[in-house]
Formats: sequence, structure tokens, C-alpha cells
Amino acid sequence: MEGYATSITKELLQTSFVRKTRSELSCPKCNRQQLIIRDKIVKCPDEEACGWKQFRIVCGITLSMPDIKDLVEKGSTKLIKGMKSKPGKSLMLLLY
Ligand SMILES: [Zn+2]
Repeated sequence: MEGYATSITKELLQTSFVRKTRSELSCPKCNRQQLIIRDKIVKCPDEEACGWKQFRIVCGITLSMPDIKDLVEKGSTKLIKGMKSKPGKSLMLLLY
């Protein structure tokens, strides 16, 4: 019984680990890999052949998951409040 509980716990941990680091977003550069989302960076797992990455903190703002999704799928984010180049102006982030 104890062993059974342990294996379930392990499975759950593994599932949440996968969910946390792998997204359903395809790499916008190579279009073959699924992006890895970390706390501070979003990147393509194929570092050698592709190497696409995007820091999540831009102009002092951390990009949320919907922002990253917009950026990767549409090539730009919507206007992000608080991301400012000049006081009072919002910015949107463009895919480079
Ligand atoms: Zn890639």
C-alpha cells in the first residue's frame, strides 16, 4: 500500500513538472520544438540549431503566459500596462 502511494505521488510530481516547463507553444523560429517556459526566460529546447529565446522580464515587467502566447503566435503582444519607455506610455513587445 505504501509503495502504491509513493508511485502515485511521483507520477503527480512528474506531471506538474512537465506542465511547468513545457508549453504547447511552438517555437516561432524553427517551428518544430515546443518552447520551455521558465520563471525568467522562454526558450527553444533546441539551443544549438535554433537558439530562440525571450527574456520574460522586459522593461521591468514580467510577461504573463497570455502575453507570451500572443508574442509567439501573433508576433506581438497587446499593449502591456506598466511597461514604459517614457512616463505614461504603454508598450507592446514585438517578436524579433
Ligand atoms: Zn526553435
